[in-house]
Amino acid sequence: MYPSTQLLIDGKWTPAASGRTIPVLNPANEEQIGTVAHAGKEDLDRALAAAKKGFEKWRKVSPYDRAKIMRKAADLMRARADDIAKVMTTEQGKPLAQAKIETMLAGDIIDWFGEEGRRTYGRVVPARAENVYQLVLKEPVGPVAAFTPWNFPINQIVRKASAALATGCSIIAKCPEETPAAPAALFQAFLDAGVPDGVVNLVYGVPAEISEYLIPHPVIRKISFTGSTAVGKHLTSLAGKHMKRVTMELGGHAPAIVFEDADLDQAVNILSMNKYRNAGQVCIAPTRFLVQQPVYEKFVEKFIAASKALKIGDGMDPATTMGPLCHARRVDAMEGFMADAVKSGAKVQMGGKRVANKGYFFEPTVLTDVPTSARVMNEEPFGPISMIAPFKDFDSAIKEANRLEFGLAAYAYTRNTKLATAVGAAVESGMVSINHHGLALPEVPFGGMKDSGYGSEGGSEALEAYLNTKFVSQLSM
Ligand code: NAD
Repeated sequence: MYPSTQLLIDGKWTPAASGRTIPVLNPANEEQIGTVAHAGKEDLDRALAAAKKGFEKWRKVSPYDRAKIMRKAADLMRARADDIAKVMTTEQGKPLAQAKIETMLAGDIIDWFGEEGRRTYGRVVPARAENVYQLVLKEPVGPVAAFTPWNFPINQIVRKASAALATGCSIIAKCPEETPAAPAALFQAFLDAGVPDGVVNLVYGVPAEISEYLIPHPVIRKISFTGSTAVGKHLTSLAGKHMKRVTMELGGHAPAIVFEDADLDQAVNILSMNKYRNAGQVCIAPTRFLVQQPVYEKFVEKFIAASKALKIGDGMDPATTMGPLCHARRVDAMEGFMADAVKSGAKVQMGGKRVANKGYFFEPTVLTDVPTSARVMNEEPFGPISMIAPFKDFDSAIKEANRLEFGLAAYAYTRNTKLATAVGAAVESGMVSINHHGLALPEVPFGGMKDSGYGSEGGSEALEAYLNTKFVSQLSM
């Protein structure tokens, strides 16, 4: 049932010129389920030539016609969601229901970007002289190189590909080697919907080799990356050296501030669900739970109960609510965080260990009394470890929320509207959601500040990042 994945170059699926492949594993049992083609320079050169040709074709297609093709691709994703979700769960590990939601959401994202592409308006600036027309035009930036991670195999690339398609750009996507088949299903939908050859290209291989080849290449005009801050900084400096536009969606370490007047049950339900979704491998997952002293004990108790209620297992089992981590590196990272936290004096309220010997499962883990010097309080946990700490007042909560260089997402729970507004203003974060989890819809901005990167992958800002502004001043003769 699980398909091996080839490279998509110039509208055709092809093996790597060298014939090389990379094994793909099922994270629930560590068994090999297939392979993915491993691109070399020869393949990348072909993809670059295709993207150049594809761009010249696609930029001339009207936004109206682009949107029609994109709508077809969105419908195909919805129609194929059951099959694609199974593929995603097999290679990534998340529960089938979550994989299906991700696939259906891809349909929404493609639809929204296609429609918004029809509204990439320029403007006419009134001139100082008669018969002068000052035109501000929006043009596609050109072929895009996009690099996406394995936590949301479709969601991460569909935002970049949809923004590129909607604005008339072509794209070479380097999708994750751990989870190659779900992105391939997305690209197949684009092809089946009628996206011309060369407009969307998909490669896999050694990430550093591919980025170092594509980013400086003159054909590529824009870079978009989602992943860790360290890699993002490296790629941004490479892009800067070659004057390429960049969008960077990097790591986070989201504070969730729960004030004493909050609806505690609502806060625990929503926060725990979003903490453990995708086994905590979510850049906007709440990770530092800051709870006002009078309700701290009660919150810890309720949060532990919610964490204990999770059913860990193979994502293909409909009863599973938390699957394995995506690859062995994440299990090693969790064990490293735990050893360091315990050594620093943290109290392990529950969990803290790998589950079973087969599969990359890790227990939902709740820590209290974690000193801010512990690694897990400073590095993105990106796994099912929750740290809960009490705070005294507004200022001390905001100080801890803003302590880190990350600034991606933040959450707050309070019934006091004045307090809610004050949190929204004081938190240094690209996204703030108060009393609910309201992030990541296609029509709203999605992006960070500080070390979490810059640019947006949602809302009209997401299209702006794929457009050049051109000014034309014309005297009519
Ligand atoms: P990693 O930093 O090696 O890789 C993260 C992603 O970047 C992967 O998809 C990888 O293929 C890609 N990558 C790495 N080096 C690259 C390069 N030189 N050029 C282009 N792409 C490159 O780590 P990992 O073990 O895969 O993931 C661990 C960390 O990555 C997590 O702790 C988390 O901070 C971050 N991450 C963030 C997101 C996100 O949604 N923002 C998603 C996945 C991983």
